[in-house]
Amino acid sequence: MVIIVKGSIHDRGVEDLLKWIEAKNIKVMVQEGVQKTIFGLIGDTTALDIDAIKSFSAVEDVKRIQEPYKKANRKMHMKDTVINVGGYKIGGGNFQIIAGPCSVESKEQICSIAKAVKKAGANLMRGGAFKPRTSPYAFQGLKAEGIEYLKEAKKITGMPIVTELMSLSDLDCFNDVDVIQVGARNMQNFSMLKELGKCNKPILLKRGLANTIEELLMSAEYIMAGGNDNVILCERGIRTFEQATRNTLDISAIPVLKEKTHLPIIVDPSHASGISSLVEPLALAAVAAGADGLIIEVHNNPSCALCDGAQSLDIPSFEKLAGKIFKVRECMLSFKNAL
Ligand code: PEP
Ligand code: MN
Repeated sequence: MVIIVKGSIHDRGVEDLLKWIEAKNIKVMVQEGVQKTIFGLIGDTTALDIDAIKSFSAVEDVKRIQEPYKKANRKMHMKDTVINVGGYKIGGGNFQIIAGPCSVESKEQICSIAKAVKKAGANLMRGGAFKPRTSPYAFQGLKAEGIEYLKEAKKITGMPIVTELMSLSDLDCFNDVDVIQVGARNMQNFSMLKELGKCNKPILLKRGLANTIEELLMSAEYIMAGGNDNVILCERGIRTFEQATRNTLDISAIPVLKEKTHLPIIVDPSHASGISSLVEPLALAAVAAGADGLIIEVHNNPSCALCDGAQSLDIPSFEKLAGKIFKVRECMLSFKNAL
C-alpha cells in the first residue's frame, strides 16, 4: 500500500499517521519530496481500512499495490536507486562496464586482463572463482585461491571485484569482494537470498535460466526484505526454443524492469549469446534499450580459456566495443537532453 501525504514528515498530522500505522505492526518506507511525502507500507496491510487512513487530514491519496514485490516496486520508491561500488555508481543515469574473464585462471591472467579492460574503459572487474559448471568433470574454478588473485588484481588496478557466490558455505571467502554475484542457477536459492539480505554489500542478481521478470523481482525482494537494498538486476538471456544462441536475450526486460522497479538493470551479452561475434550487437542494443551497465566476458586468449572461450572477447575486440558503447551512451543522452 502507498499513502501520499501532504507536507513533511515533521508535521504533526503526518507524525500522528506514522505512529498509527506503526502501531499496527506495519513498516513504513518514507520518501520525502518537496511538497509531498510518500509512505510505502510493508507488511500485512489487508486489515487496514482505507477510509480510516483517508480520515487523517494529512492524507492526499491511498493506493493498494497489487504486485507481490513491495520494496523493489517503483510505486513504493519513485526515484532510481543508485548503487555505489567503490566510488563507481550504477543506476539513476550512471552507467558502468564490468569486464573480465569467465573464470580466474591464474594471478597473471586476471591481473593482465584487469589492466587491459580498465584501460579500455571498464571500471569494475569480473572473474569467477567458484564456477557453476554443467559437467562435474569441467574446471570448477580456483575457489578461495581465485579470490586471492582477484584481490591482487584490485590492488594493481583499483577495480572493485564482482564474483559469484555458489554456496553460503563459501561466504567467509567473500569479505573483500565488492559485489557478490548470485548466478542464474541460484536466483531462487531462497536461503542464500535471505542470508545476503543480512549483509550490506551490493548483490548482482542474475535472472534465472527460465524465470519470469516477476520471479526475478521476487528474488530481489527476498534480499531487500532482509534489509539489503543494494540489488543490481542482470538480464543474461533466458532459455527459449531457439537453438541459434546459447540463450535468448530478453531485450524487452530492460524497459519492462525500468517501469516496474527502481533497481538498476545491467545486461550480460556474453552468456545471453554464447558467441563472441554476437556480443557487440547485443551489448549496443542493451545500451540503446536503457541498461545501466554491461557485464562482459573478456579473455587474453579466448581459444585457451578454461571456461566460456567461445563467448569471450579478446582484448582488441573489447577495446573496440567499449568505444562503441560510449558512443551509443552519448547518443542516448543527447536524445534525452533534446526532449
Ligand atoms: C557467469 O557470470 O560466469 C555465469 C555463470 O553466469 P550465469 O549465472 O548468468 O550463467
Ligand atoms: Mn561464463
